Amino acid sequence: MLCMSFRLRPNVLRMRPYVPGRPIDEVKRELGLADVVKLASNENPLGPSPLAQQAVADAARNMHLYPDASAHELRHGLARHLGVEPNMLAFGNGSDELIHLLGLVFLGQPQDNVVVGDPSFVRYDAAAQLSDVRLTKVAVDEHWRLNLDAMAEACDAHTRLVFVANPNNPTGTLVDHATVTRLLDRMPPGAALVLDEAYREYAADVPGYPDGLSLIAEGRPVVVMRTFSKAYGLAGLRLGYLVAAPELIDALERAREPFNVNSLAQVAALAALQDHDHLQRSKDVNKEGLARISAAAAGLGLEVLPSYANFACVKVGDAKAVYEALLRQGVIVRPGTGVGMPEFIRVSIGTPAEVSRFLEALPIALGSVTSSS
Ligand SMILES: *Cc1c(COP(=O)(O)O)cnc(C)c1O
Repeated sequence: MLCMSFRLRPNVLRMRPYVPGRPIDEVKRELGLADVVKLASNENPLGPSPLAQQAVADAARNMHLYPDASAHELRHGLARHLGVEPNMLAFGNGSDELIHLLGLVFLGQPQDNVVVGDPSFVRYDAAAQLSDVRLTKVAVDEHWRLNLDAMAEACDAHTRLVFVANPNNPTGTLVDHATVTRLLDRMPPGAALVLDEAYREYAADVPGYPDGLSLIAEGRPVVVMRTFSKAYGLAGLRLGYLVAAPELIDALERAREPFNVNSLAQVAALAALQDHDHLQRSKDVNKEGLARISAAAAGLGLEVLPSYANFACVKVGDAKAVYEALLRQGVIVRPGTGVGMPEFIRVSIGTPAEVSRFLEALPIALGSVTSSS
């Protein structure tokens, strides 16, 4: 074994590598299965919009050219779509990159503090860890909802970033507008509240869903983060965006790589925005699948967290064992084991056929786990 002695940053070595959902082909190979469904990464089960696919096909012939570094067409199209100014938008290679960029522009002093929920989206932690600053994790309440009052309590004068995923991942729970404004009232000057609305398309119709854009318009220190990876079905192209005051966008523009958003993602996103039918179908399929899983789990006597997103958390007992028993039947879900939910599996809502497949496999998995323990 080759042994080097690089002086690597200890804060980086302390980071836990991200564990993605298992890829379909890998599971097929390993378990010798022909038919595997992946309900593990909250992707759109309907696939991308045909309009986005066509736009990518058309743009493919120009992929020898660097992308438009300013994402002009996308910026102006999205600004119109949202009713904001083009200089209030920043784009990233997925929201994941934007989380890193927020860390780069906000964090640097050792006493700086990032406040996150626990459990919440694990990549927020990376923003703090990469900058080697303090990370304060605040437990969810007894209903598995982000506890924004406790998060306000956890803020101090050095808090720079507060991350609120709404709906939250992995719990699927929601916080409302009044709760968000209460947190904003208690945040220290200079700090930003990042409202991560990765799943907003599934939740925006719920009364009381926070209107992040109006908070920005009121001059509140809010950053709205959204993605094309979920309801818009473009996870493989990597495109997320932020809406914020031009002052922050300007800082992000200085820090980012010039060509961080590729040319195919730019045209696909613009096309996907036009495809209202695809978005509506995506929401309908999700609603129906979520209702079926919730009802079936209840029928099995299992608790399901009320979800406002495109996944459900089902309390199965030994999540790791049930996850493995489902995997042996060709159904990939996510165990809550690594994120403080060792009794829950998180299952993404698939097509009606994929949901059926999961619902057939679940009782068998539960049975095999009970009988072997
Ligand atoms: C899936 C997800 C995202 C999206 O990440 P991308 O990098 O844009 O694919 C962001 N936040 C949360 C909470 C998510 O679950």
